[in-house]
Amino acid sequence: MNILLLGSGGREHALAWKIADSVLLTKLWCAPGNAGIAREAECVSLDVADHAAVIAFCKTNKVDLVVVGPEAPLAAGIVDDLAVAGIKAFGPSKAAAQLESSKGFTKELCRDNAIPTAAYERFNDAAAAKAYIRVQGAPIVIKADGLAAGKGVVVATTLDEALAAVDMMFDGGFGGAGAQVVVEEFMRGEEASFFALCDGEDALALATAQDHKRAFDGDKGPNTGGMGAYSPAPVMTAEMCRRTMDEIIIPTLRAMRARGAPFKGVLFAGLIITEQGPKLIEYNVRFGDPECQVLMLRMMGDIVPALFAVCDEQLKHFDLRWFPASALTVVMAAKGYPGDYARGTRIDGLDNAAKVEGVEIFHAGTKEEGGQILANGGRVLNVCASGKTVAEAQARAYEAVDRINWPDGFCRRDIGFQAVARERELKA
Ligand code: AMP
Repeated sequence: MNILLLGSGGREHALAWKIADSVLLTKLWCAPGNAGIAREAECVSLDVADHAAVIAFCKTNKVDLVVVGPEAPLAAGIVDDLAVAGIKAFGPSKAAAQLESSKGFTKELCRDNAIPTAAYERFNDAAAAKAYIRVQGAPIVIKADGLAAGKGVVVATTLDEALAAVDMMFDGGFGGAGAQVVVEEFMRGEEASFFALCDGEDALALATAQDHKRAFDGDKGPNTGGMGAYSPAPVMTAEMCRRTMDEIIIPTLRAMRARGAPFKGVLFAGLIITEQGPKLIEYNVRFGDPECQVLMLRMMGDIVPALFAVCDEQLKHFDLRWFPASALTVVMAAKGYPGDYARGTRIDGLDNAAKVEGVEIFHAGTKEEGGQILANGGRVLNVCASGKTVAEAQARAYEAVDRINWPDGFCRRDIGFQAVARERELKA
């Protein structure tokens, strides 16, 4: 099989690493890739936004499958264009990608199909949104509709904060994403990420994960794309996984089919486990980053047949095996992230770090110049480890982090702290 992977982050490095391990693989390309992905795949400088160029590359190189990593090409309809050209792609159509690209679309789908989520209202103007917020009170959650790189959400603890958030969104604080604003009920509980492969009709649950979105230790500081993750998520018991499939994932697939937009690809449900059970915060229509990294470490089976089973609508008869071990990833970011940061700073010690037992290092924003690895983004490295427990995976990951010499980088020192505390309690 010839496979083309689209993307350049830690998620795509983890996918490339797993795909490269497949017995079915003949050749793997990645566009545009990064310095780490270059060890698993041939990186090509294709412009992913230029669908005609991607199609031409696939035809020339007899690509059997395109795997789309990030959300932007999905929302731009790359899977639809590839389908018209007769090329298989793993990922949803533009219409199905609305589950991520339009929060309003998803909220309406939930309301119409009794899928548990926060109560909400949608607004086109600031005055109406503010009047609603004054009636509801705080805490309350304000969201920009549309893609805002995972950052279009304000969880306001006070009324003033909520009103200021509305002004900021209508004033273009999140770029074009704020033309419509969704105001929703604050849900209390522990968060978890749930992933399911979907072939339009059937779904296969993957492993669960929990991530840390805040920049600093103790879940403090600004929101980021994600500073670390671990799998499995202890809060996702077998019962919670079953309820998530029955109450959220399966009804969503049924509703999407009924709307003529069957969902194929990986559905990533951000959940809050409330006293009443799992509730949906939001959908993403691709693997999470950094959650994908820990899922790939734990996946025992070959991923390539699973990707084809999705495209060929054969998931019903498909199963994937998982390592029982835990996995954890620590994101190393450039100092200043998620604000301004320098590019081109030097990173040493990666080979030595990778020698720690159970460790895999996935690159996110890196490039190679004259044999030297340089930082080339905000989130730069994912130091991942497996272990019998989350505590063991955490110790291994930080041992590897400490072997990396990158004075211009930083990471959180407490990834997985809740899970480690839980393990300690269970032992006592
Ligand atoms: P999102 O971009 O929708 O995943 O939201 C980012 C973060 O905001 C989530 O990970 C939650 O921590 C929080 N959040 C979003 N919606 C709600 C809600 N309705 N209730 C409580 N927290 C929320």
